[in-house]
Amino acid sequence: MYIVMLASECAPVAKVGGLADVVYGLSRELEMRGNAVEIILPKYDCMRYDQIWDLQVTYQDLPVPWHDYVIHCTVWFGFIHGRKGFFIEPHSPENFFNRGSFYGFLDEASRFAFFTRAALEFLLKTGKRPDVIHTHDWQTALASVLLYEIYNHHGMEHQRTCHTIHNFKHQGIAGTDVLGAIGLARPEYYFAQDRLGDNFNPTAINFTKGALLYANFTTTVSPRHAWETRHTDQGHGLGHALYVHRHRFGGVLNGLDYDMWNPETDPHIPHHYHAGNIQPKYDNKEALRDRLWLRKGFSPLIAYVGRLDTQKGVHLIRHALFYALQQGAQFVLLGSSPETGINDDFWHVKHHLNDNHDCHLEIGYDEELAHLIYAGADMVVVPSLFEPCGLTQMIALRYGTVPIVRAVGGLADTVFDRDYSSRPVEQRNGYVFHEADFEGLESAMSRAIGLWNDYPGEFRELVMNGIRYDYSWNHPGQNYVNIYEYIRHK
Ligand code: ADP
Repeated sequence: MYIVMLASECAPVAKVGGLADVVYGLSRELEMRGNAVEIILPKYDCMRYDQIWDLQVTYQDLPVPWHDYVIHCTVWFGFIHGRKGFFIEPHSPENFFNRGSFYGFLDEASRFAFFTRAALEFLLKTGKRPDVIHTHDWQTALASVLLYEIYNHHGMEHQRTCHTIHNFKHQGIAGTDVLGAIGLARPEYYFAQDRLGDNFNPTAINFTKGALLYANFTTTVSPRHAWETRHTDQGHGLGHALYVHRHRFGGVLNGLDYDMWNPETDPHIPHHYHAGNIQPKYDNKEALRDRLWLRKGFSPLIAYVGRLDTQKGVHLIRHALFYALQQGAQFVLLGSSPETGINDDFWHVKHHLNDNHDCHLEIGYDEELAHLIYAGADMVVVPSLFEPCGLTQMIALRYGTVPIVRAVGGLADTVFDRDYSSRPVEQRNGYVFHEADFEGLESAMSRAIGLWNDYPGEFRELVMNGIRYDYSWNHPGQNYVNIYEYIRHK
């Protein structure tokens, strides 16, 4: 198959969050399976140009309709670690993508609506006719609408679209001006509630609703989250639209990059190990303790690695730290928050526990330390309030570190409680609690600490169960191929 990815991010050249990893990881997997994949991105000034090879102009002048005039674009081509990338550079006074950062501007909806239209115009003009156009998040959600309403009538009637919602919180909200700008006249038609009309704002259109209505299939990033978005408030107002289009909506778990996260070859850890011999993992624990000035001795080491965002259950993370210490365990935290209130709180905890040799708080972002923590810790806690997919628990499992998670979103799809799961014993790989309160967290943590202390042989079996799971792109890659095949033959 010939697949075009349309996205606002792709790792490592333009990365803000998990979306970037998915666009790269899925593209790589699809190519390894023999498909042809091309990725179209905006040409941001702030991209990692050192991660693009052979960057050169491939289409000098692409006129893209915008309002009642055209914006001339140049399209560049280059390799993103082996993947084929096209980068659209508009030449206009708005300077859509030359602003020093990827996001955070008042005309965000216009920027990405323009990019989406430009990408389709590029496909049209260059005669590219992919079997599937896969769009990601609100930024490129309008592609399905444009394809059906405009490009279908210009020779692109066979293209199919798949849309993935990585984050329901951001849906792309705009007024009539943006609709008109990209060539969708008839605002009264699009503003209808059963089309693009936003549920909360009658004078706005909702890009993501557009994808739900027009895309041949829509996914989100885990099966459990797909259910939550339909049946709880996690759909952020899209519950009804998801119900109406339920026959072409589903959850596909994200994969983990097994090259980057591999304890056998990881350049950031001093002692390599694998499922056949995990003994060196415990040398990493000592290395981690050395690095963070933690006391050596017989105690489990529990960690939290991740953003300190309310979504992640910051009050529970804080509680996990104190509860671990109370239970004689050690605790390491690596994370930061853009919110000063949350950051200040954790700085306060850090100062308060300054002399404690059983815990360390590293407030900031440190990729290398994260690898050593996953390798050296015995357990990680992930007490999220909501979690569309979550990578932390999958990385932990890969590194033989037992996850203690709240049963929400992708966490519920990947971690199975040692004591209460209905799965066979050898498939149980961690600890799970349900309510977002101290009792739930404590009960899961005390069971984990108890097993580590009293039944080390059984704890090791739990570790081995986790390490045997395959959360690479292998399965999700096949799932997406199945979806593409399904929509292609409809
Ligand atoms: P989200 O995408 O909501 O932030 P995920 O669990 O999907 O959460 O992915 C988080 C990724 O970012 C993981 O790879 C995690 O190790 C990494 N990460 C988060 N915070 C930090 C940090 N402070 N330092 C290093 N890595 C971090």
